Amino acid sequence: MNTDLHSWGRYPLAAQQGHACPWIDDLSGHVSQVIRDHGSSLPYGNGRSYGDSCLAASDQVLQMRSLDRFIRADWLNGTIRVEAGITLAEVLAAAIPQGWFLPVTPGTRFATIGGAIANDVHGKNHHLRGTFGRHVLRFGLLRHGESARICSALENPQLFAASIGGLGLTGVINWADLQLMPIQASQIDTQMVRFANLAEFFSLSAELDHLHEYSVAWVDCLAKGSETGRGVFIVGDHARYGSLDVCHGRLLSVPFTPPFSLINRLSLQTFNTLYWHAHPAKSSQQRSAYEPFFYPLDRLQHWNRIYGPRGFQQYQCVIPEAAAEVAMAELLGAIADSGQGSFLAVLKRCGDMTSPGLLSFPLPGTSLALDFPQHADLTHSLFPRLDAIVRAAGGRLYPAKDAHMSGSDFRQAYPAWEQLEALRDPSLMSRFWKRVIL
Ligand SMILES: Cc1cc2nc3c(=O)[nH]c(=O)nc-3n(C[C@H](O)[C@H](O)[C@H](O)COP(=O)(O)OP(=O)(O)OC[C@H]3O[C@@H](n4cnc5c(N)ncnc54)[C@H](O)[C@@H]3O)c2cc1C
Repeated sequence: MNTDLHSWGRYPLAAQQGHACPWIDDLSGHVSQVIRDHGSSLPYGNGRSYGDSCLAASDQVLQMRSLDRFIRADWLNGTIRVEAGITLAEVLAAAIPQGWFLPVTPGTRFATIGGAIANDVHGKNHHLRGTFGRHVLRFGLLRHGESARICSALENPQLFAASIGGLGLTGVINWADLQLMPIQASQIDTQMVRFANLAEFFSLSAELDHLHEYSVAWVDCLAKGSETGRGVFIVGDHARYGSLDVCHGRLLSVPFTPPFSLINRLSLQTFNTLYWHAHPAKSSQQRSAYEPFFYPLDRLQHWNRIYGPRGFQQYQCVIPEAAAEVAMAELLGAIADSGQGSFLAVLKRCGDMTSPGLLSFPLPGTSLALDFPQHADLTHSLFPRLDAIVRAAGGRLYPAKDAHMSGSDFRQAYPAWEQLEALRDPSLMSRFWKRVIL
């Protein structure tokens, strides 16, 4: 039994007891045993969710990482069947040499396939390919006391929709069939350019997004006045020529948790200013391996420790298109006033491709994501201010990143919650769901 499992932000700090099952055929019996012993539980992928959505209300989780095998692969058509605890990195290591890539990937390759489905994750190509759930063909679902089911758009379609973005509450996904995306090379051709403020971000996004597979921007969350929202715009495409190499970059590691957060106003201001000036004022092109392009933070293992023992919270919201420019200016203004924030605040325009999932986060508009060292001020002062802006603009927060959203904000922003609650496996309960629904 693993007793040192947390969420990525380590806030709330609630150690989870992990119950792992080595064989997929034994999983159903294993789930029943854990439920009998502890009353309720929750599937746990690799703990890359920031807040409390991957924490069980009972603090007893079904640890899925040991189910990490390929079951079958059709490399002619790019369809694979994998166990749900396999990571995106492990899928890519097998798929890239065959000329296939994940059609959607979040900013960490350490998420599992089960976790990617349960949060219906999105990536830098949301404007073209929507969320992860759009590329899931079917999966197996185990519910306590029921026989195993197969879910797809045609088989058990309600459970299929509820489980995509279903926060692990509808049952345990034991395997999944995925459609991959063909590539000619694993390198990414990128283009970067600095922008001076938010207005320039929106015009670059309008000009470039539809021309490129990937598009994302980093913003300096401390810049104020006419420089509010200045940053670096990055687009990318899979190279047409090159090699199908898998990255095995050496990882550095933060070896222990320092007694206090290394992120403070001074380190933040210095880094943000240096980073902005280090990027070209005129568009520059380069070829990059896929890992630094998609997963820059993964190179530093345990980077979440730099926030010290109190941990940190990520704030990620999406604002509908019509209100986005004004609301983003207000959000970034409030954050700059507070002097808090993270090295890498990320702005991303989301597209209009609907997800098959009931509770999927993205909507057509603009998403902002950034980390804050945990501090009492956050929940009492800054977050209520940001929440009011998001609420007024008709936006919403991302449950995968959340540790503070109020129940009323959640229910208002995700009206399909009642359908999910009706289909929830009664023996599965997270700290998040207990906080926002019960
Ligand atoms: C550096 C970094 C960058 C990130 N970038 C992005 C991004 O760009 N876009 C984005 O969308 N997200 C992003 N995330 C968030 C991350 O991709 C998601 O939280 C993802 O779901 C984590 O997967 P996991 O396997 O670690 O699952 P966990 O965090 O362990 O669990 C997530 C949810 O999935 C459920 N779950 C896990 N396994 C199963 C299963 N087998 N069956 C049923 N339910 C299951 C859990 O109950 C929980 O509700 C990022 C996270 C990090 C740390």
